[in-house]
Amino acid sequence: MVTDAAGFVLYDTALTDNAAGRYVLYREIYAALNEMDGFWSKFSQGVFQSKAAVPVMSRGRVIGAVYLCEYDTVQGPLLLSFQSVVANLSVGAATAVLLISLIVSSVLTRRMAGLLRAIRLAREGEYSHPAPVRGKDELAELAKEFNELTVRIQHTDELRRQFVSDASHELKTPLASMRLLADSILLTEDMPLSEVREFVGDIGDEIDRLSRMTEKLMLLTRLDARVSVELWRVELAPLIMRARNMLEPLARQADVAIQCELDDGCAITANRDDIYQIVFNLMENAIKYNHPHGRVSVYMYRQESNVVIHVDDTGAGIPESDLPRLFERFYRVDKARARLAGGAGLGLSIVRDIVERYDGSITIKSEIDKGSRFTVMFPRADLKHSDYTLMAP
Ligand code: ADP
Repeated sequence: MVTDAAGFVLYDTALTDNAAGRYVLYREIYAALNEMDGFWSKFSQGVFQSKAAVPVMSRGRVIGAVYLCEYDTVQGPLLLSFQSVVANLSVGAATAVLLISLIVSSVLTRRMAGLLRAIRLAREGEYSHPAPVRGKDELAELAKEFNELTVRIQHTDELRRQFVSDASHELKTPLASMRLLADSILLTEDMPLSEVREFVGDIGDEIDRLSRMTEKLMLLTRLDARVSVELWRVELAPLIMRARNMLEPLARQADVAIQCELDDGCAITANRDDIYQIVFNLMENAIKYNHPHGRVSVYMYRQESNVVIHVDDTGAGIPESDLPRLFERFYRVDKARARLAGGAGLGLSIVRDIVERYDGSITIKSEIDKGSRFTVMFPRADLKHSDYTLMAP
């Protein structure tokens, strides 16, 4: 249909009910006469109906409209079959998605249940049931991490248990000797005063041993707890000379000579007490496990960006088979001799803990009946850095 600006039909192609010469104001024509495109379509009962109208413009004004109406029965069945294919496809896809998500979620749930069971058992202290690791996804990664964590916790747990049992055993021994000595004094009538004095002296020695051990245990606990300590630039030569002076009486008693060859300018960034502890423990061992007329030699020099300290002795040496366990807590090579020397096997584990704390290293070279060399290496203090820092825990 072609209409004028008022909706009067000028021309109509319809064969029946031709509207030419009449006013028609269909919704689409009305829209077109108001300068808008009018369109409407509907699909029902296999028939596709569509109506459209566009304005006819001249010099910016609407002078009429062209209206088109289509009644299509050919595309209907095509559209219907397309509609049913789309519907079937959607139902199929939805069912497939549902099934897949059910399967995936049940597999995931089962795997998570395995992990959860392992976590609960670990919480109860049962570490022998690792979480099952299947596949290579995040869940498998999680299970692997968890298993590694439990292995570490188990190891730490065993170490702690071992430590507590060793510590109580070591503390019990001097207590038992003190009990024995005290009982002897109490139960022996008319004990000569000199003997009483001797026994009381022995009790005093045991008390000394106990306090030395508790001091070392406390130091180890402090090192374990990684308590923050103040770090200073520490010149090592005066520190070594101080340890030497402290150990001089012990060396004289053991008939061991101490000699030191120390280069100047060897400084590291550390806590003074910690480093003193290392030097003291190594020199004390070198004296304790030496032969009469033996010698202890301490050498210190700079090597590239490190400070190297050797503590040599002319003692019994350490069998190679004992070297890997030497730094363990309460480990002693010759138990009888070590106990006689007043050692509980804690000195070297303290040394190792402190050396590691300051990014240093410790190595041992030993020859039976010739002696041992303990070598400690630390990174040198950087002069450009400030003198003082606080070590983070
Ligand atoms: P302790 O307090 O018993 O001396 P340490 O941890 O310092 O404990 O030493 C562990 C063991 O290593 C000692 O009991 C001793 O058997 C052995 N040891 C340590 N230093 C030396 C050394 N310089 N020569 C020979 N044996 C040594």
